[in-house]
Amino acid sequence: MLRVGRILHGTTAEGPGLRTAVWFQGCSIRCKGCVNPHLFSPRGGKLLPVAGIIEDSIAAGVEGLTLIGGEPFDQPAAGHALAAAARAAGLGVIAFSGYEYQTLCDRDDSTRAFLAKVDLLVDGPYQDWNPETNRALVGSGNQRFIHLTDRYKNYRPEGVLNRVDIRVRPDGTIEVAGFLDSASLKDLSSLTSSARTLRVR
Ligand code: SF4
Repeated sequence: MLRVGRILHGTTAEGPGLRTAVWFQGCSIRCKGCVNPHLFSPRGGKLLPVAGIIEDSIAAGVEGLTLIGGEPFDQPAAGHALAAAARAAGLGVIAFSGYEYQTLCDRDDSTRAFLAKVDLLVDGPYQDWNPETNRALVGSGNQRFIHLTDRYKNYRPEGVLNRVDIRVRPDGTIEVAGFLDSASLKDLSSLTSSARTLRVR
């Protein structure tokens, strides 16, 4: 079981191609300026079975999963189970972590097993004093794209425009995914009082 803050199937705002984005619930890093404080608590969100997430992802016709948060590597065993099931189903796996790659490598077997099922790792904490101005998907200049397999070797975030996924639900609520800088978030929030952005890295 995985503790999840949110899942979005069929988005193009969280990496190359059509993807399922999984926001892990809980983050022990708590970067200054993080726009996802509602994902900090390890007791929030809901517990979901890995098999159901994969089934729904396949049904949505996605190319792969993007694991974000929260901090995916705060749930290494469940993260490994999800990533392994995704890879077994032929799906790619992109994972974001506020921890640096070497720190993850130096942790436990469960963390290393999780890493072994990740195709592309985007590492490093969000630094609000070090804004990224060129690359897509990341919010600060320290964060690195580390290719652990060749699956996304042709993906280059430099000069790629960030995409934003905005969905209006039948009950009138608005969900937003993708990268938004603070100015864009302010603009969007002025348009709708119920808009929520779910990640800035
Ligand atoms: S930016 Fe990511 S790693 Fe940093 S506090 Fe927010 S969710 Fe955690």
